[in-house]
Amino acid sequence: MLKKILSPKSCADCRVCCVFDRDDIWEIPLLSEELLDYIKENVNPDIEYKKYGDEYRLSMSFGEGEELSYCPMLTKTGCALGDKKPFDCRVWPFRVNRISDTLCGITVSPVCESVSQLSLKKLSDFLFDESEGESLAEVMFSYVKQHPDNVKPYIEKYPILALREL
Ligand code: SF4
Repeated sequence: MLKKILSPKSCADCRVCCVFDRDDIWEIPLLSEELLDYIKENVNPDIEYKKYGDEYRLSMSFGEGEELSYCPMLTKTGCALGDKKPFDCRVWPFRVNRISDTLCGITVSPVCESVSQLSLKKLSDFLFDESEGESLAEVMFSYVKQHPDNVKPYIEKYPILALREL
């Protein structure tokens, strides 16, 4: 989805978006019921998860004294879910965040080093590009309308690239 601004090699060499610390629980990808069933049937029947609103959240395990936990779907060759990655992972480092009681916004996480090097103009142009059909901004706003649990809390200093009424 983001190949125009983020090469598969950059992602393969980094994978920072598949590692979570204890303050990042809100960042853990949410799974639809359909995707959870797919994981149980095809990847790991014993996967641990918790219900989160109408969706499900993978459980991360932190060893004693460990600050970081790798997503249980991460393998040596990349994400075990391939093209079926959760929405959160397909659009990262973009996020839909709750800006106020009535507004949500698309932001970009500064944690992704490759994307952070791009200008906000370039990111905005990419987000609203309709040359190949519906823009990513429309895809994201439509998705969270149907899956409101995917609206994340707003983190200060995340640049806001688009706003929409909730
Ligand atoms: S589901 Fe896949 S892409 Fe998403 S955090 Fe886990 S390993 Fe990474």
